[in-house]
Amino acid sequence: MTATHYIDGGRVASQGTETIAVIDPSDGQRFGEIARGNAADVDAAVRAARKAMGENFDGPWGAMTALERGRLLAKLGAAVMQHHEELAQLEARDTGKALRVARNDATALARYFEYYAGACDKLHGDTLPYERGYTVLTVRMPHGVTGHIIPWNYPMQIAGRSVGASLAAGNACVVKPAEDASLSLLRLAEIATEVGFPAGALNVVTGYGREAGAALCAHRGIDHISFTGSTITGRSVGLAAAERHCPVTLELGGKSPQLVFADADLDAAVPVLLNAIIQNAGQTCSAGSRVLVEQSVYEEVVKRLSECFSAVRSGPPADDLDMGPLINEKQFRQVRDMVATAEANGVKVAARGTVSSNASANGYYQEAVLFRDVPADSELAQREVFGPVLAVMPFADEAEAIRLANGTDFGLVAGVWTRDGGRQLRVANKLHCGQVFINNYGAAGGVELPFGGVKSSGFGREKGFEALLGFTTLKTIAIKHG
Ligand code: NDP
Repeated sequence: MTATHYIDGGRVASQGTETIAVIDPSDGQRFGEIARGNAADVDAAVRAARKAMGENFDGPWGAMTALERGRLLAKLGAAVMQHHEELAQLEARDTGKALRVARNDATALARYFEYYAGACDKLHGDTLPYERGYTVLTVRMPHGVTGHIIPWNYPMQIAGRSVGASLAAGNACVVKPAEDASLSLLRLAEIATEVGFPAGALNVVTGYGREAGAALCAHRGIDHISFTGSTITGRSVGLAAAERHCPVTLELGGKSPQLVFADADLDAAVPVLLNAIIQNAGQTCSAGSRVLVEQSVYEEVVKRLSECFSAVRSGPPADDLDMGPLINEKQFRQVRDMVATAEANGVKVAARGTVSSNASANGYYQEAVLFRDVPADSELAQREVFGPVLAVMPFADEAEAIRLANGTDFGLVAGVWTRDGGRQLRVANKLHCGQVFINNYGAAGGVELPFGGVKSSGFGREKGFEALLGFTTLKTIAIKHG
């Protein structure tokens, strides 16, 4: 594997000479390297993207009609499906995720391109009633060149939702994947060229966030930034964007609650509560990391969850158990430290999963941990763990459930489990977050469903048709014709 970026339609050597080791999280061993991109590499990628757009959107990519863009995106979706197993294997090795999850991610990547392929030529402006003698219309224009900072937890899914929508809206893209998860996106850019995307429409610069990522956010040739990651890095990305009045979309994770009322169908709820926290080993921005349970069914829910947690097994991606290892040593230590701190502070562990004997001792394996009676003001109830660690706590009534649910800095997703139709909508309306799922959670991915947060979970919406609006700017044209 040669350490290169993907710029202007081809693999390009880095302008610096340094590389970054690619580590397999399942055994901590190096199995390749990627280029350590710098500001000069970012500049080359932005120039290539600007050339593809053309100064007045008259370049090879900028001049394409919505129909032509849609056809290319459809081809890209089909090509991703042809390379499905290759991409899934690459992602599983690079990130440690169970093969089943990586396969699902590859399918979702294709699905984003399919969805946005069909949406390209449905994105349009309006005509506005105005004064006599005028015709006024609005036109949706692409921003120009968009920057995409992609995290390591779902590289293919997150690139699919942000790059897919941006390309559909007519922008050229420069992507900076996470240093821990760059391989699938380098391959994706190559596939895009193979199916006919013009050079420069989709560029990938690898490297560290603090170097290549920061250079991308500061580059004057970037007209919009889409960022998914931590609140703290999101803040610095937002500040860099504000310095030059660049629009930005921030998706910054959460501490998402699931509210279980006494009338809930527990047979349906419990497997979903479990999956919402162990999926991708808990490294999911919308993980259901808090479960709030009405007092009268609290012990029953804790008992059922404990049985489930005890059965959760972690192991190498190829064994396709419930969970793979965590992404890297830093994340592994963070999760272990948070679990140890909670235990030292007297929070009770109700159950733990196991790590398979097949797992290397050098891998970053964290067993699933279920904590019960978690105090609402504790670190475990307030901070994102980003690991397979669930905090369960009781509530007395609907008012307390809503207060607890809204009682963190975050507001990304929530789940409500009740058979009472009035309560379903009453509670959904009072939850401060971007998505509410009633008697389900995550809606099986939901490519079509707008997604994003409030408060420290960020702002702007990705996924669905709504994302296309964010990747455009509206121009009003007023014609006076008498
Ligand atoms: P970061 O927010 O630091 O990383 C997310 C992305 O931002 C990566 O691509 C990273 O690149 C890049 N980045 C880092 N610094 C900068 C910068 N100054 N300018 C531009 N881009 C930058 O998250 P971490 O990987 O450090 O994970 C820490 C915590 O963040 C996790 O424990 C979790 O709580 C949260 N997180 C949330 C995610 C979500 O989906 N909402 C996803 C990932 C993490 P690089 O990795 O190369 O440094």
